[in-house]
Amino acid sequence: MIIATSPLPYRNPLNNNYLEQIAQARRDGFSAYELHACRRGQRLSEEGLAALSKTGMTFSVHANYMDNNLSSCDPVVRKAGVGQIKADILFAKAVKAGLVVVHPGCRDGGSEAEAFESLNQSLRELLPFACQHHIVLALENMDGSGNKLCSTHHDLGEILVLHPALKLTIDFAHIGMTHQDIMPFLSDFRDRIAHFHISGFAEGKPHPEVPLQASQIDFGPYLHRIRDWDMMITIEISDRRGAIKGRDVIEACFLGTSG
Ligand SMILES: [Zn+2]
Repeated sequence: MIIATSPLPYRNPLNNNYLEQIAQARRDGFSAYELHACRRGQRLSEEGLAALSKTGMTFSVHANYMDNNLSSCDPVVRKAGVGQIKADILFAKAVKAGLVVVHPGCRDGGSEAEAFESLNQSLRELLPFACQHHIVLALENMDGSGNKLCSTHHDLGEILVLHPALKLTIDFAHIGMTHQDIMPFLSDFRDRIAHFHISGFAEGKPHPEVPLQASQIDFGPYLHRIRDWDMMITIEISDRRGAIKGRDVIEACFLGTSG
């Protein structure tokens, strides 16, 4: 398992230079990094993309989650979302990342069934595109808030059956926020999980603000369970020291005998 950091601790509102952020993460001992894909209107030059791919970091890409809704019942909104994710897939390819994390989106007017049908339509358009560019598309489980889709074990299971090429990103904190048992996700979706997100869980707090050692759920047994899986786990903690300490906590769990 490769331990990555998200850009959260390395972002600077005054400096959008990816290379400087990645250099800092490397000085902090990270060898893997989850890039957050370009926002609308933000484009990296060819040279910038080439420089990123030469940093020696192992990358994953988190697709834009602000500007799109793959589950929208409004065809214009849904199609714009699909277009954005396609751009993010090409971005991942340009920086030699093999995997793109994607959010399922939310119900925005129609029924739950209509939202799921919109999501299915979006995935039918995106999966062949990702496959053609040799990118793994990994749908993330959500935290159950608002009208977000795909926060339950049941809903993920239904989507996976419909899309054999679809993989999963399992976010431990999101499962905690929905009060489900984590172990069935790991056992039942073992063959479909391609990526993990982790941060602490504390009732009522945004999860990137909760250090792993302060988590109200002990992720130790689950981390021990996945310690030999050949993929990446991204720490999504906003505070730099929290992210570095989180890496120590995860490594200790990998080495430990719990679980
Ligand atoms: Zn996410």
